[in-house]
Amino acid sequence: MKKRIVVQKYGGSSVKDAERIKAVAQRIVSYKNKNTDIAVVVSAMADTTDDLETLAFQISKNPADREMDLLLSTGEQISCALLAMAVRELGFASVALTGYQVGVMTDNTHLKARVHHVDNKRINKAFKAGEIVIMAGYQGITEEGEITTLGRGGSDLSAVALAKAIKADVCEIYTDVTGIYTTDPRLVPEARKLEEITFDEMLEMASLGAQVMQARSIEVAKRFNIPLHVRSSYSREEGTMIVKTTKKIEDVAVTGVTSNKNEAKITICAVPDEPGVSARIFKAIAEAGVNVDVIVQNVSHTRKTDISFTVPKTDLAKAIQVAEETSAKIKAGQILHSKEIARVSIVGSGMRSHQGIAARMFDALAKASINIEMISTSEISISCIIALDKVDSAVKILHKAFQLEK
Ligand code: ADP
Ligand code: ASP
Ligand code: MG
Repeated sequence: MKKRIVVQKYGGSSVKDAERIKAVAQRIVSYKNKNTDIAVVVSAMADTTDDLETLAFQISKNPADREMDLLLSTGEQISCALLAMAVRELGFASVALTGYQVGVMTDNTHLKARVHHVDNKRINKAFKAGEIVIMAGYQGITEEGEITTLGRGGSDLSAVALAKAIKADVCEIYTDVTGIYTTDPRLVPEARKLEEITFDEMLEMASLGAQVMQARSIEVAKRFNIPLHVRSSYSREEGTMIVKTTKKIEDVAVTGVTSNKNEAKITICAVPDEPGVSARIFKAIAEAGVNVDVIVQNVSHTRKTDISFTVPKTDLAKAIQVAEETSAKIKAGQILHSKEIARVSIVGSGMRSHQGIAARMFDALAKASINIEMISTSEISISCIIALDKVDSAVKILHKAFQLEK
């Protein structure tokens, strides 16, 4: 009989101290039997990764990416060693493995490396020996033997990539909430847990700021059709299934509301309105390695126009510098910028076939006197850039306006 293979991922919030590590170990062994092999992916304990990052910036304003990866990857090495010890204390064979020891092969883009493939030989050897595998999440190794990390929240991606490599029957994501909610349940207590959500909707929600799952992990799960079960490590309650298509016969218009406070806005004033100008601006910004998101350009009546766009807050300084240099070359005007903005978004597959969703969103924001600075849409989402200090209330207002608590 073929054995059942289970991948479980425990986030940092689930392994924040020794007590929690022991509790997680209890949970892991409760699933182990002679017909089930278990591979666990674990994140760094609680805020370890943030703390390591802070420490690095106390030493250097501009730490080298290579050493940053070497540093950040240590968090998961600690938690995986401790968790394997805790499992063994319960009388079960267990082995802790780093990304390097497993063979999580990545490209060499430090801090946001892409996974090429995950070797299953070491894991299968451990399974054969009857061991529960505990793998350090978030980290990989290049062909040249350099240690990399997979971007913040990257243990989700480690889990999905591992599930694919060892052909797991299930991939469970354990966190500190009982599943995926209509919006962040810590911000909106009325938020409702979803029984199911599609890969497309989850990808959109994650990309637009719902930190509960890393967006890239959902892309991979979607590509290989690996259903994910997001649930709590603190209870036995069933969580949310992330799947290709849900059981609902017709999609609801709006499934969730998300916000993102990590963007900033740049405006290049008085840009000459002629062919090739936008291309020059955004080419220069792309060459600086900055991802541009919402872009707004007005029609000009004076042969000059303003162009506004958003960038991640962490890239703002770099983007301003490039914008200033380019503005001088193309004879545009001054550069304005603001960090006091945020994005609020609604997401739902049913948007493709329901009319009037945008109007309802704008109307709800207008009634609360929230000014919309920029708008962007995709097939299944609508986002508004608004003032940072209004964004939490905007999430609550939209959650209510679309009756998501029901
Ligand atoms: P982990 O340490 O398990 O990786 P994260 O902190 O990365 O956990 O993600 C879990 C958190 O995501 C929750 O505590 C919750 O506040 C937040 N969150 C944001 N949006 C949602 C949502 N739509 N549904 C559930 N949780 C959400
Ligand atoms: N520890 C890493 C982070 O905090 C990876 C993860 O938790 O998924 O981003
Ligand atoms: Mg996470």
